[in-house]
Amino acid sequence: MKNDQLLRLILVLVLVFSAPALSGDNDEDVYARKREMMVLRQLKARDITDGKVLEAMGTAPRHLFVSPHLRSQAYNDYPLPIDEGQTISQPYIVALMTQYLDLKQGEKVLEIGTGSGYQAAVLAHLTDKVYSIEIREKLAKTAQETLSKLNYDQVKVKWADGYFGWEEYAPFDAIIVTCAANHIPPPLLKQLKEGGRLIIPVGSTLFFQTLTLVTKTNGKPKVRHVLDVNFVPMVGEISKKKGQ
Ligand code: SAH
Repeated sequence: MKNDQLLRLILVLVLVFSAPALSGDNDEDVYARKREMMVLRQLKARDITDGKVLEAMGTAPRHLFVSPHLRSQAYNDYPLPIDEGQTISQPYIVALMTQYLDLKQGEKVLEIGTGSGYQAAVLAHLTDKVYSIEIREKLAKTAQETLSKLNYDQVKVKWADGYFGWEEYAPFDAIIVTCAANHIPPPLLKQLKEGGRLIIPVGSTLFFQTLTLVTKTNGKPKVRHVLDVNFVPMVGEISKKKGQ
């Protein structure tokens, strides 16, 4: 083969193999576009108006928190299954609950129900003090691994029953519960700071619940019902107690 033929061959090979990158069609670009559309059509088009929440939702790579075979659906307008029969909430619900927490940088937030770690990652874009509790050991371990791999080092995950909160780091400026409870666990209310916000689905753990926002003013909880939702049930200590 002559020199110029060899050069031409090399040029063709370089072009063929770099084409997807040049056209911006690699997987991460595709997911970034899907994420952008999700923010536009599912969040801005509804009532998500907080710029910082929109930015967090537009940045956290939701597709990396679900199984590879579900990645292409990660930015669709519905919840998705994760391991152990649990679910990762619909993007809109994640954004709405986050918006109600009204987090400022440096505030401490506690999540009950780490699941895949996605909600915790979204919170980590808003503050560097995120604590998350998961009752299922395997999920706690996998979520911690995923979060570390993606450099969400500001999230601390604990394998425990979240009913009791996380005394060591209390009080919290905000608490988010991502599993359905038939009553508000008293330890969580206790660990909420004065002026703090707690968002939790309360109601029948088998059917629908009411997303409930509790704010603590002068030591007393003020309750506001937000919307009907359907979450997987909280398990553990809560099932030993009657609805209150
Ligand atoms: N926020 C998660 C999804 C939560 S699904 C995400 O972004 O992926 C609800 C999770 O709550 C499940 O993983 C379930 O195991 C967990 N859970 C149920 N009861 C719990 C309890 N008492 N304490 C902590 N986690 C609990």
